[in-house]
Amino acid sequence: MNYVVMDLEWNQSTNGQDEAPGLPFEIIEIGAIKLNQKGVMVSEFNRLVKPAVYHEMHQITSRLIHLQMQELQRGDPFPEVMDSFLEWCGEQEYLFCTWGSSDLTELQRNMRHYNMTPLSEGPLAFLDVQKLFSLAFEDGKSRRSLETAVDFLKMEKDIPFHRAFGDAYYTAKLLTHILCEKPEVLDKISFDVFRPPVSREREVKVQFDHYFKYISREFADKAEALADREVMSSKCYLCHRNLKKKLKWFTLNGKHYYCAAYCEKHGYFKNKIRLRRSEAGKVFVVKTTRPITPEEMQALKARSEHAREMHRRRNRNHKKKKDFD
Ligand SMILES: [Zn+2]
Repeated sequence: MNYVVMDLEWNQSTNGQDEAPGLPFEIIEIGAIKLNQKGVMVSEFNRLVKPAVYHEMHQITSRLIHLQMQELQRGDPFPEVMDSFLEWCGEQEYLFCTWGSSDLTELQRNMRHYNMTPLSEGPLAFLDVQKLFSLAFEDGKSRRSLETAVDFLKMEKDIPFHRAFGDAYYTAKLLTHILCEKPEVLDKISFDVFRPPVSREREVKVQFDHYFKYISREFADKAEALADREVMSSKCYLCHRNLKKKLKWFTLNGKHYYCAAYCEKHGYFKNKIRLRRSEAGKVFVVKTTRPITPEEMQALKARSEHAREMHRRRNRNHKKKKDFD
């Protein structure tokens, strides 16, 4: 299997007023490096896109990437560049790799704008090299800039940053380094959810070594999502049993929900639900389940009590206000 390490540059509306519906960012450059299974660079891709939506350069874009509109006129229309990019990616199986998690979403958004055949029917698996770098060399949570990561590993900076090809090149070098030094973190696959699972059968369920991830299909709204049995269930992903909850679902902000359950064999588990809005305006759920210590269980319990107290207070104020009215 090959790795297609990709980076995009994009432009946006200069005033925010005349933003094209469904296309906040217009791709103006695609750069990529293909690595073989061993992490050896085998091929490169570098193309400019001729803008068709935003004809003025946003100041962030011009300051950051030093690309001018005149130069972009040498580019080709997006659908042409995209077709040759996919042809370059090849017939052999490959995995997209990017620095951070936004490139594949914007790529698919641009493809949709031109009614191109979707890259995938549902979530798209990829490697987020920014995340892998953190897992390999830091705490797994921090997110460094590309240049900081290159400096951290004392790599040679032989071409400029902030252009698609340059950034793809450095991302590829970092990935190669991770492949050699910390190959175990390569299991930490990410999913781009520009397209959520299309049906219950195609929902994503993946077990990692320290947690389990579930990406649901779309629901009409939050209430429907939170009424779904699979969404609200708490299972032990190690012995696959349905567990009785020790802490009922609670939320502090209405977006993230938590609950905890206990498996007699494997101990406490924390479930976290994130409600996400899909491009179609519907709701889907990303749920993670991970084992926690009894101490973490106590901390979670305190948070749930805090949430309940806040909820009670809100209701009381609401009632007071009503009485007053
Ligand atoms: Zn268990």
